[in-house]
Amino acid sequence: MSKGRTRHPVAALPPSRRWERADHPYTDLVAVLATKHGKLPLIAPPLEEAVGLRVETVAVDTDALGTFTGDIPRQGPPLDTAIAKARLGMSAVGRPLGLASEGSIGPDPAMPFVIVDREIVVLVDDDNGIVVWESHSSWDVIAAATNVTADDDLGPFLAEAGFPDHQLIVRPNIGAVHPIHKGISSIDKLTAAIAECASVATDNLARVETDLRAHACPSRRDVIAAAAQRLAGRIAARCPACGAPGWGCIDVIFGVPCAWCGTEVARPRSEIDGCPACEHRETRAVVSPEDRADPGECPYCNP
Ligand SMILES: [Zn+2]
Ligand SMILES: [Zn+2]
Repeated sequence: MSKGRTRHPVAALPPSRRWERADHPYTDLVAVLATKHGKLPLIAPPLEEAVGLRVETVAVDTDALGTFTGDIPRQGPPLDTAIAKARLGMSAVGRPLGLASEGSIGPDPAMPFVIVDREIVVLVDDDNGIVVWESHSSWDVIAAATNVTADDDLGPFLAEAGFPDHQLIVRPNIGAVHPIHKGISSIDKLTAAIAECASVATDNLARVETDLRAHACPSRRDVIAAAAQRLAGRIAARCPACGAPGWGCIDVIFGVPCAWCGTEVARPRSEIDGCPACEHRETRAVVSPEDRADPGECPYCNP
């Protein structure tokens, strides 16, 4: 949607006009946060505190981009989804600065029996053509699920699921797709939903699982807040070359020599910091040059 704004490509502006050094470029600007699920108190305070960026919500239907409840499948990587959400909010109110968050909850690729929640928070600045993002991962998120009949004792499951602080979703286990009851936080509603869903399921079971939407899942909210805190720190950090906000780690170089045979072991050796607006990069060692890796990690010494 166009509001008659002339968009200046970053490269077309002289460096001195791009990012004034005196104040942070986002102080007193307004960014719109696209959210249906009450993320403002998680995302706004760290950004306000770090750089004086003001955050306002815009209620857009981000569910069109995929939902946790699985009724609308997600498409594309989470970062792309977060950027698309931010742009939905920006175009809804005609602002060039937007925020959004996107979470992925599922088995940890490194430890398949453990559930990990990775939350991304992104800032999109279309006036300057930059995107800045950060993420935070937690293994403490509650994501419980079970299949029950209408007569089962739910006590142990409800304790594991952190109910009622963590709300639940109930649906038929097999067969029917509907009804789906979301945001259940009372035992009466839970009992009624289980009876209804079990009665229409072909296996007579109701599927009961954590409602992972941000407002319904406090353990997820903590992870979003931590990701927002990291984003605030990154936005406060400015490129040493051009002054743009968003300076920070963009890549990690692996390879520390094994103490016995010298083969490079897959451990971080240095991090590359980069700028979202220009090509400036700096490499920062994370281990000293004399550091050697434990032979226990070496593919030759400890195959
Ligand atoms: Zn070795
Ligand atoms: Zn730069």
